[in-house]
Amino acid sequence: MKSQKIAIVGAGPAGLMAADILSAAGMSVDVFESKPSVGRKFLMAGKGGLNITHSEPMDDFIRRYDHSEWLKPMIEAFDPNAIRVWMKSLGVDSFIGSSGRVFPTEMKAAPLLRRWLSSLKKRGVRVHCRHYWTGFSDEGDLRFTTPEGEKTVATDATILALGGGSWASLGSDGAWVTILARRGVNISPLLPSNCGFKATWSPFLQPHLGKPLKNISGWVEGAEESISSSEAVLTTYGIEGGLVYALSRPLREEIISEGSATLYLDLLPHITENALISRLTSSGKQSCDNLWRKAGLEGVKAALLREALPKEKWHDPLSVAAYVKKYPITLYGMQPIEEAISTAGGVMREALNEDLMLHAMPNVFCAGEMLDWDAPTGGYLLSGCFASGVFAAKGVLKILSGEKRSC
Ligand SMILES: Cc1cc2nc3c(=O)[nH]c(=O)nc-3n(C[C@H](O)[C@H](O)[C@H](O)COP(=O)(O)OP(=O)(O)OC[C@H]3O[C@@H](n4cnc5c(N)ncnc54)[C@H](O)[C@@H]3O)c2cc1C
Repeated sequence: MKSQKIAIVGAGPAGLMAADILSAAGMSVDVFESKPSVGRKFLMAGKGGLNITHSEPMDDFIRRYDHSEWLKPMIEAFDPNAIRVWMKSLGVDSFIGSSGRVFPTEMKAAPLLRRWLSSLKKRGVRVHCRHYWTGFSDEGDLRFTTPEGEKTVATDATILALGGGSWASLGSDGAWVTILARRGVNISPLLPSNCGFKATWSPFLQPHLGKPLKNISGWVEGAEESISSSEAVLTTYGIEGGLVYALSRPLREEIISEGSATLYLDLLPHITENALISRLTSSGKQSCDNLWRKAGLEGVKAALLREALPKEKWHDPLSVAAYVKKYPITLYGMQPIEEAISTAGGVMREALNEDLMLHAMPNVFCAGEMLDWDAPTGGYLLSGCFASGVFAAKGVLKILSGEKRSC
């Protein structure tokens, strides 16, 4: 098996994980990467603390993915615990944060990536940077643009792990969509996910932009997802943060079909509407500011209420409580894909066999964010990339060992 040529195109977490599995199985692996260095988005993900996976029970974990039935066997084959064991094998300890999210102890991605690359190098994996993949030759070989000119590379099996379309400056520019679509591969359009949304705020709210709305819940009517105890930030363009990222699928779908979407917030999710009405009902003479503050409505929350409610309603506990418990925000667009944390859409499930090999291109596999699945932030994105990288690598091992003949 050693003499067989395996190419992995794209040196992000999915591609490197595929290289890890294949080299551990004794295969000869070449990784091709367009950028001068590998794992740029992975390093960016680690900037604010690398949330690599999540510790919640497996059923809950899998439910976070859209197309979760598709992802389930992949995640089960390389689950959050396996990710932690793999990190440990590289000498990187991890811990579970108070939210259940898992982080490397050092928080950053760089130390993990350094150790990972060193381990791959020891196993003989060759990494070729500045190799921009431009498609296939008539013979099915891989074509690259390199500083030394055009190159073609013949392979026995290829894994494409080219990422989605966000943060193109880090390498994943989505140019592969046109190349694969021309080959008859079904691709769902790349769309921004885990992204901010556009909304307009009156001049009155301007001083509150950039300040967090903490401990809020949110939902989109008719959608399954409802997010509790989260936070969001009002920005000059609209709203961003964990709460809207987690609701980005239903919000995006409503915007695409209706032209706008309504996000509902519960500004005080830990108190019932009736309890809030009692708190807002003053027995003596109290200013509205005082009453609201005592009920937990100050700062951005109070400003939002003043924005939505006419002044004569500010002293009406029923009206205030109704808005606090179901505060509507109209969103009329998504932030550009360039600024999104991840990408929805990609190579569709029906374009691939159960081992992630393209029906249209035998011996060519796909992995990572370029597949048509999506998940919220919280470690689910990287977990899905690792798991699909493992799965595609195992698919390659199957066909090269003759266990499964390519068609
Ligand atoms: C700011 C930010 C923070 C994030 N934080 C987290 C987090 O905390 N937790 C989490 O789970 N996820 C997080 N993510 C998402 C996560 O980083 C991605 O989902 C993940 O990196 C995708 O892995 P991938 O290997 O599929 O693609 P990528 O990481 O995008 O890697 C694809 C690689 O392919 C290369 N490539 C693309 N086209 C070509 C070509 N034509 N020729 C050669 N090479 C090519 C690219 O240069 C790139 O190196 C974050 C993302 C961002 C932007």
